[in-house]
Amino acid sequence: MKPILTFDYELFFGPEAGDLQNTVLGPTEQLLKLLNEYKSTSVFFVDASWLHWLSIHDNRSLKKIQCQLAEITKYGHTIELHVHPHWQDAKLISGRIEFTTYENFRCCDLPENSSYLTDCTNILLETLSFTTQNTLTCFRAGGYCAYPHGILFQTLYNLGIKRDSSFAPGAWNDQYPLKFDYRELQEFKPFDIELGDGVAIREVPIFTYRLSTVQRLYQKALRVASEKHISKIPGRGLVFNNSFTKKLRATTKIATPDNTKYNELPNFEILDFSPVLVGHPKNCNETTLKTLRQILTQYHGISNERFYE
Ligand SMILES: [Zn+2]
Repeated sequence: MKPILTFDYELFFGPEAGDLQNTVLGPTEQLLKLLNEYKSTSVFFVDASWLHWLSIHDNRSLKKIQCQLAEITKYGHTIELHVHPHWQDAKLISGRIEFTTYENFRCCDLPENSSYLTDCTNILLETLSFTTQNTLTCFRAGGYCAYPHGILFQTLYNLGIKRDSSFAPGAWNDQYPLKFDYRELQEFKPFDIELGDGVAIREVPIFTYRLSTVQRLYQKALRVASEKHISKIPGRGLVFNNSFTKKLRATTKIATPDNTKYNELPNFEILDFSPVLVGHPKNCNETTLKTLRQILTQYHGISNERFYE
């Protein structure tokens, strides 16, 4: 089946966050151009915690984002809510954004009395008032940290957001500050998570696939032998010091066009559901664009409608 393209619209969260123009606005423009060429629509999960921070520290940048979100909705793409709570601890030091701690990294750890999620949602809704979209219906937790969901889903439900797309079946990570475990989950089709009192959140899982040690070695070998596309996008994410053995262990990968070759992705055609892919404008290098073009050609365009079924 045709895949669903989603993009997390955000800066990096490491020693170098990157800059608005070159890390987000420019790459997003390239993505929009490509998607429009194939009359395709996607879902953009906008980091509302970044917008919340900008509303206090940098209104000019917020205005520029506003303009781009208007452009995004104009072509039929939708905007949804993405939150990275560690923006609460971001400081502007000598003109650079620095994350002083990652203690507040996980959305599912937000305390019950916190209004942060509501504040972020309101900022994004305010920003959307300049676009053709006026509601939010879906959420994605930063770093996929939405389980166990605690009060998170009830808070979202109260805000009118009744869908979530954070669960990555089979995947797990415990490298601080990332911590999630979806190994028990094997369902890729949307399902309901009951919250009690007859209300539920509709989970639309992210597509993942298994890579064996042999497959990882094979892909590595192919990469060494082929042309390399180095990203010119400024910024750097968190770097984990993985041991050599860990790098080669069988793993569950989140399906993404980010710096991934088309032939490294599984065959989506044989699936009886539409797999949800997660990309990022900040990782939009030549390899990403080439792969997206191949997907768009293969499936004669992509639509975001399936995501809302
Ligand atoms: Zn994110």
